[in-house]
Amino acid sequence: MKIIAGNWKMNGTPAALRDMMAALDNVDTENVMIICPPFPMLCTCGATHRAALGAQDVSAHDHGAYTGDVSAAMIADTGAKYVIVGHSERRQYHGETNDVVRAKAAAAIAAGLTPIICVGETMAERDAGQTMTIIESGVRECVPDGGAVIIAYEPRWAIGAGLTPTRDEIAAAHDLIARTLDTMGIGTTPILYGASVKGNNAAEIMSIPHVDGVLVGGASLKPDDFIPIITSVK
Ligand code: PEP
Repeated sequence: MKIIAGNWKMNGTPAALRDMMAALDNVDTENVMIICPPFPMLCTCGATHRAALGAQDVSAHDHGAYTGDVSAAMIADTGAKYVIVGHSERRQYHGETNDVVRAKAAAAIAAGLTPIICVGETMAERDAGQTMTIIESGVRECVPDGGAVIIAYEPRWAIGAGLTPTRDEIAAAHDLIARTLDTMGIGTTPILYGASVKGNNAAEIMSIPHVDGVLVGGASLKPDDFIPIITSVK
């Protein structure tokens, strides 16, 4: 059983979300399916579907004068179960640090959500030979004490670029994350891979040890692209 999560970023419509959720209801799979649309669409999906919903960000604060932010309790109230935290685009455009990400993940857990915590290296960090250091410090610094989380390893240089690391590079990154989580006493935490996953590479990527699923951006927007990823693995 794998976890297949879709990150819609700032794309989609309520109608597209309803179509996607209805399409996922009919997929023959035991995999966990998650769709993370923009905030307003979380409220538009109505009845229960087989796929779970998640948000793409959350405030570290409970309530108050934080214009534009959304609290974890508000997200949980919509029926969503997950929230992505520390996505590369949040780090790039909103300056989120590992400390901010940890605070957001803790707020999510406190509200009963499961945070999908993204870690990964930029191209500059990769070129400087810092990939493993960035990944390990990301895991150690972003995971709060207590509560279930999911880790997503997303090499930031590969997101949306049609690029993927080699099989050996993904294997090394996931092995490091698994060992790091083990030393933190949470060795059963699922580890997703994300960046340029498509129907034609998903099965190969999910056959790599310690790849417990995928976080998909562009290819999660349409059922015809997303469903082949889900059904590519048992
Ligand atoms: C992402 O944004 O998390 C992502 C993996 O994007 P893409 O699949 O488009 O590379």
